[in-house]
Amino acid sequence: MNEIDSLIGATEATLARIARDFSPAVFASSLAAEDMVLTDLILKARLPIGIFSLDTGRLHPETLAVVDAVEARYGYAIALYRPNAQAVDAYVAQNGLNAFYDSVEMRLACCGIRKVEPLGRALAGNRAWVTGQRRSQSTTRAELAVEEIDAAHGMTKFNPLAAWSEEDVWNYIRANDVPYNALHDQGFPSIGCAPCTRAVQPGEDVRAGRWWWENPDSKECGLHMVDGKLIRIKSVAT
Ligand code: SF4
Repeated sequence: MNEIDSLIGATEATLARIARDFSPAVFASSLAAEDMVLTDLILKARLPIGIFSLDTGRLHPETLAVVDAVEARYGYAIALYRPNAQAVDAYVAQNGLNAFYDSVEMRLACCGIRKVEPLGRALAGNRAWVTGQRRSQSTTRAELAVEEIDAAHGMTKFNPLAAWSEEDVWNYIRANDVPYNALHDQGFPSIGCAPCTRAVQPGEDVRAGRWWWENPDSKECGLHMVDGKLIRIKSVAT
């Protein structure tokens, strides 16, 4: 068995274990390349793991088009969670539409309204959640474990692709003809909200285009943070 087959086998085993031992469980898809690998594995195996995405209201049309591509390919409708409209209106009225460029605090406040609060709603009532995070994506993810205790949400969090490289992800996508975000072919290795994501140059860090105006150590959206600080999640397995 070559390396990619062994990675796929381990990931399939992790997903099957989540479906068997942690039901109900959900997969938080950002609709990026990594998440399409997990989407393909979950839907092909018909695992009872619900897939949702956070429609922040600031996504690129190319990102939202992935939702339609998944429905066309697999006949599966990804659930979309949207921010509280009153909270968005209040933030914009008080700070302006793009206040997240002004400070880390303003950026985390925007992510809090558009991502963290909807994520809490999407996770409520589940025993575990799944992400497409990988260790090699950034300095903030270098110690990422496959299985963690997510104390903030009171459940187990799985990162089944923790050991996958970017090359592994693309080898899988090409070998299995998995649909993916068209922005990946336009210099966007990592994709978030449109105003907070830019294309990167060849050789740049894969997350260099996310919140590019900030220090690399603060580059998380808050989905894995509590009260504006990165959570030190306790690892229980690798
Ligand atoms: S990524 Fe940018 S636009 Fe999206 S929620 Fe965070 S600060 Fe707001």
